[in-house]
Amino acid sequence: TKITNHLPTKELQALDAAHHMHPFTEDAALAKKGARIITRGKGVWLTDSEGQQIIDGMAGLWCVNIGYGRKDLAEVAAQQMEELCYYNTFFQTSHVPAIALAAKIAELAPGDLNHVFYAGSGSEANDTNIRLVRRYWDVKGKPEKTVIISRKNAYHGSTMGGGSLGGMTGIWAQGGLPIPDIVHIDQPYWWGEGGDMDEDDFGLARARELEKKIEEIGPDRVAAFIGEPIQGAGGVIVPPATYWPEIQRICDKYGILLIADEVITGFGRTGNWFGSQTFGIKPHIMTIAKGLSSGYAPIGGSIICDEVYETIATSGDDFNHGYTYSGHPVASAVALKNLEIMQDEKIVEHVRDVAHPYLMERWQKLADHPLVGEAKLVGLMGSIALTPDKAARARFASDAGTVGYRCRERCFANNLIMRHVGDRMIIAPSLTITPAEIDVLVDRATTSLDECY
Ligand code: PLP
Repeated sequence: TKITNHLPTKELQALDAAHHMHPFTEDAALAKKGARIITRGKGVWLTDSEGQQIIDGMAGLWCVNIGYGRKDLAEVAAQQMEELCYYNTFFQTSHVPAIALAAKIAELAPGDLNHVFYAGSGSEANDTNIRLVRRYWDVKGKPEKTVIISRKNAYHGSTMGGGSLGGMTGIWAQGGLPIPDIVHIDQPYWWGEGGDMDEDDFGLARARELEKKIEEIGPDRVAAFIGEPIQGAGGVIVPPATYWPEIQRICDKYGILLIADEVITGFGRTGNWFGSQTFGIKPHIMTIAKGLSSGYAPIGGSIICDEVYETIATSGDDFNHGYTYSGHPVASAVALKNLEIMQDEKIVEHVRDVAHPYLMERWQKLADHPLVGEAKLVGLMGSIALTPDKAARARFASDAGTVGYRCRERCFANNLIMRHVGDRMIIAPSLTITPAEIDVLVDRATTSLDECY
């Protein structure tokens, strides 16, 4: 039999368990209860194989920024497949979708971030960044500058390079990560780790760990610092206002490259085109993926400033790096159309309009719930910290079976997709969400919290 949406859920689940190994999943445990099978998407809504209507508070994996089910994107993909389904950009050739998308990205990106190196995903793009910064310093005559400094609990992907840049010990524990010359400083997580410190002082103290680390390793060894403007997969950790200006000062002082991983914060999520603009960061390189195509096609990349680009481009040698699908024509055409839609429909402005004050007011009210310690929101990226004791800023343990896990399960049962990261619950809905849909999302989140208390 042909496997389609029309098969009974149980049969689809059995086939899934038999043949499909899931990312970041204990497959045997999933096989016992069966995966929830998602069949359709429209706007911020998903339908599952039982016909349930689910509000997606995570835009897939922080990526379906313009919402599900856009026919105009499907049409562009079909047209591009017919016209030129594939051609490489390696060997002295190029094509219009890759050129037009790079020009559009350069137009939208701040400052002199004018050059795009394409990848198929955020992980690949961060692997590219490791190669780029090391190549840059090598061409500059400083081959010993190879160390990249990142943060604990950061997420930069799950390839060997991306997983090493990331600071997730669960990933490191399974296979030889981090690779050499990648080191990590503490994250700027005031609510969880700030102790008695005032938030601004804590932000400065955590940023100054970068300076200490550079001094400890030796400035002549350090190539770059990488950070997500807001740590996303780590729990939507919004840094104190003092943090990024101090990081910027330190990078400037030591002349090290600054990489902003904008895979989540890019393309409108925080109420500006890029999170770097929201936080006043001036990176040399940005990592992009996800919202670039709103998840309609797999594509990522690095946006590179003039200096770094020109140094590598004029080195007299090839940059020996690339992927078969770098600048894939169909993915590029879809991404370009996605960005055009975002501009035409003023989606970044819409984020600002619905986030402040509408979602902000409703979101902050969640902090009155007895289980919730803090509620954070920047644009359409939010989190709440679950706590057994608000006043003490106490934290729950983070294993499966704990409150965060149960709360996520209650959301799932109440047809709301919200993720949990340890003791934090997070949202990042499609940027097209309406006030009425925000009401549904927050109401279902409140019900789920009540059921866990
Ligand atoms: N960087 C950040 C900040 C991310 O959030 C992610 C994915 O969630 C990645 C990189 C990795 O992207 P991908 O899953 O497309 O490889």
